Amino acid sequence: MILRGIAASDGIGLGRAVCVREENLDYSDVAYSGKESEKARLQAAIEEFEQRTSAMAEHIRQQVGDKESEILTGQIAMLADPFMRSQMQDAIDGGACAEAAVDNVCTMYADMFAAVEDEMMRQRATDVKDIRSRLLGILLGAASVDLSNLPAGTVLVTRELTPSMTVGLQKENVAAIITATGGKTSHSAILARALQVPAVLSVTKVLEVVQDGDGLIVDGGEGIAILNPDERTRSEYLTRQKDYQARIASLKVYQNRPTVDADGKRYQLFANIGSAAEAEVAAQSGAEGIGLFRTEFLFMDRTSLPDEMVQYEAYRAVSQTMAGKEVIIRTLDVGGDKAIEYLGMEKEENPFLGHRAIRYCLDRPDLYKVQLRALLRAGAEEHNIKIMLPLVTSVDEVRAARELLEQCKQELSEAGLPYDKDIALGVMIETPAAALTADLLARESDFFSIGTNDLTQYTMAVDRGNAQVASLYTPFQPAVLRSIRSVITAAKEAGIPVGMCGEAAADPGLIPLLMAWGLDEFSVSTSSVLATRASIHRWREDEVKRIAQEALGLSTASGVEGYLKKVSAPEK
Ligand code: PEP
Ligand code: MG
Repeated sequence: MILRGIAASDGIGLGRAVCVREENLDYSDVAYSGKESEKARLQAAIEEFEQRTSAMAEHIRQQVGDKESEILTGQIAMLADPFMRSQMQDAIDGGACAEAAVDNVCTMYADMFAAVEDEMMRQRATDVKDIRSRLLGILLGAASVDLSNLPAGTVLVTRELTPSMTVGLQKENVAAIITATGGKTSHSAILARALQVPAVLSVTKVLEVVQDGDGLIVDGGEGIAILNPDERTRSEYLTRQKDYQARIASLKVYQNRPTVDADGKRYQLFANIGSAAEAEVAAQSGAEGIGLFRTEFLFMDRTSLPDEMVQYEAYRAVSQTMAGKEVIIRTLDVGGDKAIEYLGMEKEENPFLGHRAIRYCLDRPDLYKVQLRALLRAGAEEHNIKIMLPLVTSVDEVRAARELLEQCKQELSEAGLPYDKDIALGVMIETPAAALTADLLARESDFFSIGTNDLTQYTMAVDRGNAQVASLYTPFQPAVLRSIRSVITAAKEAGIPVGMCGEAAADPGLIPLLMAWGLDEFSVSTSSVLATRASIHRWREDEVKRIAQEALGLSTASGVEGYLKKVSAPEK
């Protein structure tokens, strides 16, 4: 049986399914077994919780850091509170089963913390909710998959891939990933590419069709998965996998080469990262800098805001890893598809058009200034950090952000703390409003970076994660191409550098167009760095100019894509 989805991370993986299903925490069928027995069940569950949580905390301490692991050790301390324990015991004495005791007491504490104005207290509410669901999971024996201990050759089948899932994931045992939701530029896709694991997304009903242990072949380049393949298909795909691996190995020759076209013209080739640890991978991938550090991941994998020191350390680590090379760090791009529960943001009818990214940050200067200060300080030694603003739609937003940046500089000067006084402030061009006013924004910005993932979404009025409208969602659309070209032209006219950090920067068909129009910098996922360098290498200036002219004369996305695929095919 062939399952079709969205091709999200290239490569071929063969293995057996491990399904991550949502836990069912309904305990309405659990019968009360008597005081002593319920108390014994509760005690055993608490001990199991403590054991699992300290193992997780230790794992995270080694993989991520002390601060992140303290969130978990803090939960153990909370549950050790004698008052909380005695309230659970009292509930059991009153006739509640262990599940109901946990549910009622934890919910009461969570409501109490959530009602307090203080941010720290509100974050505790998130912790108690987490304790509640994990304790209920243990009591009900809900099978939670241990992602840090997967068997070799696992094909992970899940609704979506989240940053917290990837923290403990044993990458070498994951042959491929299939998800039920998400598009080419969703976070599931970005994370799968960062892990360099083949992935197919938005496979409808995959969690209903696939069972644990089923055989699977995943072709992340074609966007298909084959369920319980026969022997012939398996061996055919094993050959394809070898060919793919040979192709990847052949790109190694580009590892230490400069990024130049066939005429010797130089381009900058940067990498996109989602964590400080990924900067190491970027440095080894042959990237010449970081073109996008998505800082929201730093905020997502926790139950409370990262303070100035935590942020400073993460940004400084990237700055040092990339010493001597540019590092573009994007300020918090929260909202839309990136929810951060502890911020308590309101549910919105149209989250992609709502109170998000720069809009949210400018309304929360308390929170935003912490990030700006951390960035200013992190750039003090290497002077290689640049700040980038997400989802800009007007000059006012850039001015307001600059004003806050100046206030932060003032505060740091007064505190006698070192910082980068000349830090550059750039703008992401990812909305039609920004693209149409690129000339105005260019006067107020030190650089541009085109975010085609969102620019395509907003230009085409098409949700980037919705599989049903995915055929409209392509940067080959004439509307998107015209927008990209005019942004590059505006930047050139204003004399500021312009890069691209959306996924389109790694598309071999689009690369000649971007070269022809004068893009200065390509920023791609770490797994695409060498292939992008190889693409740039093959073109001469006169060739790309001719191709760009031809492509712009075509009136449909499929026409443009077909033409560019043909001219950029490897056998050329
Ligand atoms: C983009 O929109 O192109 C982009 C790079 O940002 P993100 O994918 O994080 O929205
Ligand atoms: Mg974006």
